[in-house]
Amino acid sequence: MGLLEGRYAVVTGAASPRGLGRATARLFAEHGATVAILDLDAAAAERVAADLGADHVGLACDVTDKGACEAAARALEERWGRIDILVNNAGITQPLKIMDIAPANYDAVLDVNLRGTLYMSQAVIPGMRARRSGSIVNLSSVSAQRGGGIFGGPHYSAAKGGILGLTKAMARELAPDGVRVNAICPGFIATDITAGALTPQMLESIIAGIPMGRAGEASDVAGCALFLASDLSAYCTGTEVDVNGGSLI
Ligand code: NAD
Repeated sequence: MGLLEGRYAVVTGAASPRGLGRATARLFAEHGATVAILDLDAAAAERVAADLGADHVGLACDVTDKGACEAAARALEERWGRIDILVNNAGITQPLKIMDIAPANYDAVLDVNLRGTLYMSQAVIPGMRARRSGSIVNLSSVSAQRGGGIFGGPHYSAAKGGILGLTKAMARELAPDGVRVNAICPGFIATDITAGALTPQMLESIIAGIPMGRAGEASDVAGCALFLASDLSAYCTGTEVDVNGGSLI
C-alpha cells in the first residue's frame, strides 16, 4: 500500500527531464497518487503525465499568471473532486551579482519563485479548507539560508527566503483548517538547473564543501516531498527541511 493511495497531487514545474518536480511526481505516482504535471509547455507536461500512466494529467500553467493557476485548479477539482497535495516546485535562477540585477531580472525571479507559490497556493486553499485537509510543499533553497550560490543570484536568495516566510505564515493561518504547509531547502542537486553552468573545477570546489561528499539527486528531494505530502508528517507544519548532504553543519 502506497503512502499516497487515493490522493490527488499537483506538482508545478514538473516537466523538466531531470528536474526535482518530475522526480517528485514519479515518486508520488509510485505511492498511489494521481498526479497533475503543470508546466509552461502543455505538450511537455502531457508527455510527462502520459509517462507516469493513463490516469495522470499534464496541463500548461504559467504560475506567474493568477488566472492560469485558478483555471488549472478549477479544471482539476472538476475532474478529481479534490486536490490533496500541492508542490510549488516551479522556479528559475539567474546567475547575476548584486549590481547586475536589473528591475526586469528582479521581477522575473521573484515572479516565478515567490509570486507563483502564492498564486498556486491561493488556487488550491479554498478546496483544502473546505475539506479540512491538505498538504502544501514549497521549494525553497539553501541559497535562502546562507545567501549567494553561483546559480541563483541574490534575487533568487531573496525569493527563496520569501518562500520560507510565506510558508510559515501560511502554515500558521491554515493550521486550524487542517491544512499543512512546509518547505524543502535543497542544497546542490544534480539537475538541469545546475548541469550546464559548471566547470570541473567549480564542481570539485562545491563537492568539497558538502560533508557527505556528493551532489544530491532529484530522488533525495522527492523522498522529502513524499514525507511532507503524506501522513507520515501529520504533525509537521511550518517546517523547513534541509536536503543538502550536511552543507550547513
Ligand atoms: P528545473 O529548471 O529542472 O525545473 C524547473 C521547471 O519549472 C522547468 O520545467 C520550467 O519549465 C518550470 N517553470 C519555469 N517557469 C515557470 C512558470 N512561470 N510556470 C510554470 N513552470 C515554470 O529546476 P530544478 O532543478 O528541478 O528545481 C526545481 C525547484 O527546486 C526550483 O524551485 C528550484 O529553485 C529549487 N531548487 C533546486 C536546486 C538544485 O540544485 N537543482 C537547489 C535548491 C532549490
